[in-house]
This record gives sequence, structure tokens and C-alpha cells, in this order.
Amino acid sequence: MLQVLQGTAKLAKDRVYLDWNATTPLRPEARAAMVAAWDLAGNPSSVHTEGRQARRIVEDARAAVAGALGADSRNVVFTSGGTEANVLALTPGLVRKPGVPARRLIVSAVEHASVLAGGRFAAGDLQVLGVDRDGVVKPDELRVLLAGGEPVLVSVMLANNETGALQPIPELAGIVHDAGGLLHVDAVQALGKISIDIKLLQADLLSISAHKIGGPKGIGALVLANGVAGLDPLLRGGGQELGRRAGTENVPGIAGFGAAVTAAMASLDGMKRVEKLRQRLEAGLRQSSNGLVFAQDVPRLPNTVLFGAPGLRAETAVIGFDLEGIAVSSGSACSSGKVQPSHVLEAMGFGPELTQGAVRLSLGWSTTEADVDRCLEAWRKLSGTLLKHSDETQLERF
Ligand code: PLP
Repeated sequence: MLQVLQGTAKLAKDRVYLDWNATTPLRPEARAAMVAAWDLAGNPSSVHTEGRQARRIVEDARAAVAGALGADSRNVVFTSGGTEANVLALTPGLVRKPGVPARRLIVSAVEHASVLAGGRFAAGDLQVLGVDRDGVVKPDELRVLLAGGEPVLVSVMLANNETGALQPIPELAGIVHDAGGLLHVDAVQALGKISIDIKLLQADLLSISAHKIGGPKGIGALVLANGVAGLDPLLRGGGQELGRRAGTENVPGIAGFGAAVTAAMASLDGMKRVEKLRQRLEAGLRQSSNGLVFAQDVPRLPNTVLFGAPGLRAETAVIGFDLEGIAVSSGSACSSGKVQPSHVLEAMGFGPELTQGAVRLSLGWSTTEADVDRCLEAWRKLSGTLLKHSDETQLERF
């Protein structure tokens, strides 16, 4: 409690945090920007001095976000996070001028749940695009799905949250544009880990989220390319965000996002160090069991390892690691108290033994070699038990 009051967002000393794809610790720059913003009284829509001070904070952050993505500031729409950005993007009627508004939606099978749900498209207008054994979208399958239909919005993520696999976005964008469609890219996991340029990607819409890059939770953005129109606001009323999202802006959240994105861009080079640590982790995992690292032969995020082994039960492993002081996560999802197999691994063609048995280890800017070694030590200690006993009773043991 005292720690919270004192405002220390540092990770506990006796713990090793390897769940950076779930969320990241707040960067000190983000904290400082938020604290300063909390002390501002004005509403950014007010014309007086106090209002203009708040407006300045919002617009500076908007410029920072736009700059990080090679986008124009006026094309950045702040939202409550990546989920809202995705749902806002998946709008029937979006158009890439001078094209025709999209009436159908195609999403890849490995998307985040907020994309798989289809946004505001009717279920009958949604098609799912398969992936190969490494979780990469098949361009030929996309061509087939696009052939001869109505104009389409396609949504494919830049980096997968479970495997870290990167999609060939510029190639997919070319295919989509040739067919007169638009491409939305969920870049929530990629931001801060690899460099992103909306023009180089040729994406029409990009979703991002602050809490994956050391910013606060509950703030994100949808970023549009020039020439994209027809966005249907989720929240109507006030004219904020150029009429694309009504409601007084979350000024402290936006300030924290802006500071986090600036710090993340300045330290992007540090991801090379993180990648080396990931390689060390993978080598150690391979040495100590006959497991496999998913998507290991395709371009991947520098920080992510999704690891599976026959007999491993993810939920048991997560608890085991936790008791050893290490925070990791499972590839499978937990809903209503029941662990669901990973839809990502299912789409990659793996059976139940692996879809329920994958553990995700994701590293970040403050991860150290000692953290990796402690994780490997824990794995060596746990793996004998975890791999031998894979039944439900194992859960009670921990
Ligand atoms: N998209 C991807 C790929 C994610 O990994 C996440 C969060 O885990 C989201 C979207 C949702 O972002 P937020 O938590 O900001 O709603």
C-alpha cells in the first residue's frame, strides 16, 4: 500500500516479470507527464488560458503519437485503448478515397478477440482468413477471398500477441488495395518493439495502445492514413477528436501516452539487447526439454517466446512459475473460469495437447540476464513435474 501511495511503479525486487505483452510497467516519463496533467484545471475544449493549457498537452501528445508512426497529427483519434481503436476501425462504410465504401470484413484467424468479434459488421459479412503453421497469413488465400466480391475492409495484425509472429503487411496491403479494399492493422503489440511507419506499411488504419509501451492503461489511438474517410464514431455528441469520438479527453492519460511513446521511440534500439536475451532464453529452454518455440522460423517480435512441450498444461505452468517468483502467461485464454485452448495455435494447426499447453514469456526494456537465468532455473526445477503430470489434479498441488 505504501508503495502505491509513494507512486513507485517499479517491479518488486524479488520477482521476475516476463509478461510484458500483457502490460508494461509505467515509464517514469509517463508518470511525470500524468502528474503534471492532473494539476491542470482546464477542459481542452475551453477557450480560456486554462483550457488552452490542457489543449496544448493533448495536441503535443497527438503530435508525438503521429510522429512515432509517420502519420499526420489530425489523423490520430484518441480512444480508451487498443480494443476501442479496433472496434472503431471495423466500421462498414469506410472508404479509401476515391474508392467505394467497404461492405464486407475479412479478419485473420489469429487476431485479438476485439477484431475477431467483427466490430460493427454483421456476422454474415465477416470472413476469416487462415494462417500457416507459423501463424502467418497466406497471401493467396487472401486473394481468393477478395476476388469478385463487394469492397472489403481487411484486418490483419502487425505482430501477434501470443507468438510474436510478424505479418507481411506491405504485401497484404498491395493485394487489398489492388482489389479496391482497405487494410486495418492492429499494431498494439508491435509499437515500441519494432519501428512502424504507416506509409511504409501502406496501412489505411492502425490501432495502438499506451499500456504496452510503458504508458497508462485505458488510453490508445486509432490512426488513419490520408484519404481514409467514412469512420463511424462509437461515441457521438460533442465534437471532440474532430467529431470522431465524443467526450472530454482523458488529458492525463493522453499526456502519459505521449510521454511513453516519445520515450519508447528514443529507446527502440534497446530492443536489440532484449532480442539477445530472448535468444538466450530460447536456447536454455531447448536445452532443458524437448519443447518447441512456436513461429521460430519467421520474423518475430524481439521480446516474445511462446513455448510448448508435450504434457505441459499452461495454467499449471503459470501457477508453478508464479510460485517461483516469475510472472508468465499462458497462450490459452481464461474465460468464465474455464481455460480455453489458444485460438492462435488452433489456427496454426496444432492439436489440443499444444493449444492448451503453451506458455508465453515476454521480455521488456528492464529485463536482465539474471531474470532470464532465474526463469531458466525455475523451468529446470519445474519441468520434471510439469511435463510428467498433466492432469487436472496437478492444479491442486500448487
Ligand atoms: N490488440 C492486441 C494485439 C493486443 O495484444 C491487445 C491487448 O492485449 C489489444 C489489442 C487490446 O488493447 P487494450 O488492452 O488497450 O484494449
